[in-house]
Amino acid sequence: MNRKINFNAGPSALPLPALERAKEEFLDFAGSGMSVMEHSHRGKEYEAVHDEAIALLRELLGIPATHEVLFLQGGATQMFAQIPMNILDKGQTAQYLVNGAWGEKALGEAKAVASMFGASIAVDNYGEGEGKEKKYTRVPAPSDIKINPAASYCHIASNETIHGVQFNADGSRPFPETGVVPLIADMSSDFLWRPLDIGKFGLAYAGAQKNIGPSGVVVVVISKELVEKGRKDIPKIFQFRTHVENKSLYNTPSTFGIYMIRNVLSWLKGLGGLQKVEEANRKKGARLYGAIDANPQFYRSPVEKESRSLMNVVFRLPTPELEELFIAEAKKRGMVGLKGHRSVGGIRASIYNAASYEWVDTLAGFMEEFAKGK
Ligand SMILES: *Cc1c(COP(=O)(O)O)cnc(C)c1O
Repeated sequence: MNRKINFNAGPSALPLPALERAKEEFLDFAGSGMSVMEHSHRGKEYEAVHDEAIALLRELLGIPATHEVLFLQGGATQMFAQIPMNILDKGQTAQYLVNGAWGEKALGEAKAVASMFGASIAVDNYGEGEGKEKKYTRVPAPSDIKINPAASYCHIASNETIHGVQFNADGSRPFPETGVVPLIADMSSDFLWRPLDIGKFGLAYAGAQKNIGPSGVVVVVISKELVEKGRKDIPKIFQFRTHVENKSLYNTPSTFGIYMIRNVLSWLKGLGGLQKVEEANRKKGARLYGAIDANPQFYRSPVEKESRSLMNVVFRLPTPELEELFIAEAKKRGMVGLKGHRSVGGIRASIYNAASYEWVDTLAGFMEEFAKGK
């Protein structure tokens, strides 16, 4: 078997033990003579998987009783619209802190919802330049953030997958303190990368395909207070209340997706929990940024040091031609997924939980060698 060293941004590498478990159980799940995919979502075999996935997530993140866990569909992108649909009312304002492409997308959908509902959106943009050409190289420092105490909620993206900037990568860039205003975070690309006080969030959501499973599921952790406050004049399928009342089984969920998440969560638990996962992620980040900083004449990180993402490491070489050569040479050594997002170019190594230190060390070693040879 020749498995690649996979630095894809999403869908991305899954931990081998989670995949192997799926392979073993594939044709005959729990001695039932059927694949888990072929079971009714209301049968006891699937229900056990569903409940275990919820319980593991609660345990790993220490989710308090004040919060619900949902497994929905439509991806993080649907959440961009579904969140304001549930929470915004006529005459209200929501605040969006934007420091990258995903924050911009969330903002766009929120504006569309606000204009339908007679509500408004206030934006704090931390990019440089104008319009589509905006450059995002940092997350805001606490002194840059002014929360509007009258806002219905404040939205952030905890990690910007394309621009490679992240809150909490460094001690000086913590999440905003929003006081009474519910904080809502798109955690798609850094969900479960470390322990955190999830109870401080009104809502946190994550498309599974970056860090915790395959595509087709978006995980939502939401406070009961926000569920109860939610609008009742939108279609049932979009109301968070509907999915809470039905334990994410209102309609058929992505059963195989949730099963794979169960396998990944169980692997994370086996590693010793999120504290251990954070240690590993910090070690990986230090190795890779170390290789960039040790060769400043050749590699350049466009991101402010304090905001450098430990999930998506973006960097540039002296010319686009050298970047192309770098990607091609890396591919010959079994490393794939290193091309930066088409909107920004350059190189991006996505090193989520499933990317091992050995993978990162292989890449960093190759970077040192490549810089020397040019
Ligand atoms: C990938 C990504 C999304 C989009 O997720 P979909 O599941 O494709 O809707 C949203 N936000 C962030 C931060 C992402 O990385």
